[in-house]
Amino acid sequence: MEFDGDLPDAEQGTIVRLDEQPESIADVDHASGADPADDRGAHVPRYLSPSSSSMFQQCPRKWKHRYLDGYPDPPGEPALAGTFAHRVLELLLQEEPEARTRERARALARDVWPETAQNPEFVALALDDDAERAFRWRGWQAIEGLWAIEDPTSVEVTATEQDVRVTIDSVPFRGIIDRVDAEPDGLVIADYKSGRAPSERFAEDRLKQVLLYAAALTEVHGRRPVRARLLYLNQRIVEVGVTEANLGEAVGALRDTWETLLRSCEADTFEAHTGPLCAWCPFVAHCPEGRAEVEQRRLAGRVRADAPALTVLAAAS
Ligand code: SF4
Repeated sequence: MEFDGDLPDAEQGTIVRLDEQPESIADVDHASGADPADDRGAHVPRYLSPSSSSMFQQCPRKWKHRYLDGYPDPPGEPALAGTFAHRVLELLLQEEPEARTRERARALARDVWPETAQNPEFVALALDDDAERAFRWRGWQAIEGLWAIEDPTSVEVTATEQDVRVTIDSVPFRGIIDRVDAEPDGLVIADYKSGRAPSERFAEDRLKQVLLYAAALTEVHGRRPVRARLLYLNQRIVEVGVTEANLGEAVGALRDTWETLLRSCEADTFEAHTGPLCAWCPFVAHCPEGRAEVEQRRLAGRVRADAPALTVLAAAS
């Protein structure tokens, strides 16, 4: 089906929530460079990306299943809609500033749509016409959500989708930065997010990823970006000034994760960190500890009815 522009105007339509899962799950990390094949080595990864680092911190067993075992982790509908929006915004911001209009975005969405429609992961969703329409609406809302947080005609872009591979404090690092902007006082890292914006309490944690990009870019250019920001489409911008102190903290955490990860690989031991996210873990079928955790939570009525792990448990019983 074509991206036929058959989308309700934002003013008229029902607002579709971009994030219908816990925020740490549905957050679409397009800047991770997460390619399992690239991240895997002979039991030692060739580099660490922000998403693989964050996954290892959350649960080393999950990281093993994803990056060493290569078990499938198909993106869900929100992630694929986010990827579609990212691609359109990447192309839009490559246009001359005055050409970055909603009309141009809509035309780009039509051009990009066949890529998404033919993507095997999208085909595997087997959406019917109504569900596909809702998917396109979700994607368009994310795209149009850029205007809710910034005026794209006033942004000076120096790079989009910049693939950065550097060694940071002895850690081989790779990240793909959505956008590097030039502002009067220096460079600014910008990363699109189509998941739910975090509360104040969790904002600092989310900013670690862009601080790592800032550290990587400092290695590349020899000068520190001035700010790093997360552009939560349709919601708000979460931003931090880049300082020597917060860069040092982010890099220190990356190094600690890398060292722990190397030790885990060497010993071939990967702890299972059980918790509420087990219910959303794509590898729960391979993880006895995770299954036990979900079962316990299910009995206590503490698992959402749409959590994918429930299907796995039902099939196993
Ligand atoms: S089910 Fe839970 S403990 Fe097991 S790998 Fe997934 S997140 Fe980790």
